[in-house]
Amino acid sequence: MLISNFHTHTTRCRHAEGTEREYIENAIKGGFRVLGFSDHAPYVFEGDYYSTFRMRPEALEDYCKTILDLKDEYKNDIEIHLGLEAEYYPRFFDAFLRLIEPYPIEYLIQGQHFIGNELDDRRGSLAGSDDEERLKKYVTQVCRGMETGAFSCLAHPDVFAFSGSEEGYIKHMRELCLCAKKNDIPLEINLLGIRTKRIYPNPVFWKIAGEVGNTVVFGVDAHTAEDVTDNPSFEEAMGMVNAFGLNRKEAKDAILPRVRRV
Ligand SMILES: [Zn+2]
Ligand SMILES: [Zn+2]
Repeated sequence: MLISNFHTHTTRCRHAEGTEREYIENAIKGGFRVLGFSDHAPYVFEGDYYSTFRMRPEALEDYCKTILDLKDEYKNDIEIHLGLEAEYYPRFFDAFLRLIEPYPIEYLIQGQHFIGNELDDRRGSLAGSDDEERLKKYVTQVCRGMETGAFSCLAHPDVFAFSGSEEGYIKHMRELCLCAKKNDIPLEINLLGIRTKRIYPNPVFWKIAGEVGNTVVFGVDAHTAEDVTDNPSFEEAMGMVNAFGLNRKEAKDAILPRVRRV
C-alpha cells in the first residue's frame, strides 16, 4: 500500500466529505508517513462568475490555518503538507499567483480540468471530444503550465477524453510526456479515476509514459477519509505499473523535494 499521498481534498471545494482530522486519522491507521492536502484552488474570475467546484478565495485563509494547525498537532505521527490543486488558466494565472502569494502554500498540483479556462469554455476536459485540434490545445496548455515552474506534479494527465483516432492520441500525448520529462514533472496515476470508473487512467496513455520513461506517482485524489486507504484501486494501478514498466516513485520521493518549506 502507499505510504505517501499529496492529492487530498476538503469540504471547501463543496464536493468532498468529512473533516481534515478524519482524513489524517485514516491515513495514520493505513500506515501513511506523509499526507499532503491539495484542495481545488481558489481562482478569481471576471464579473460575477463564481466557480462551483473549488474553494472560494475567502476560504483560503481558514484552509491554510486548519492544515497548519493539524500539521503541528500530528507532527509526531505523520508529516503533513499544505498544497493546492490548480488548473493552468493563462488568462487568470498571474492573478491566481498573486492571490495565493501571502499564504504558505508548499506545492501546487496541476489538474487541467478545462481548456482555456472554465469561464470562456465550459466544456470540461472530461467531456472530451473527437477533435484532434482540441486535444492538441489541451496538450499545449498543459505543457505551458508545466513550463511555468509553478507546479510540482501533473494530476490525471489523461483526463482529456479523446474519442478520435488512436494515432492522433499517441502523437499528442507523447508530446505531453516528453514535456513532463524535460521539466522533471512527475505524472500521476489517479486512483479516483479507477475508483469511480472514469475514462482515466487510460492504458494507451500509460504505455506512452512507460516508453518515454516518465516518473510516475500515485494520487489518491481523496474526497472522503476512506478514499485515502483505497487498496483495490492501488492494486489496479500497480497492475498498470507492471504492465508498462513504469518508473513509479512514492509521491514523497518525487514531490517532496519540490516542496517549498513553510
Ligand atoms: Zn475534487
Ligand atoms: Zn483532485
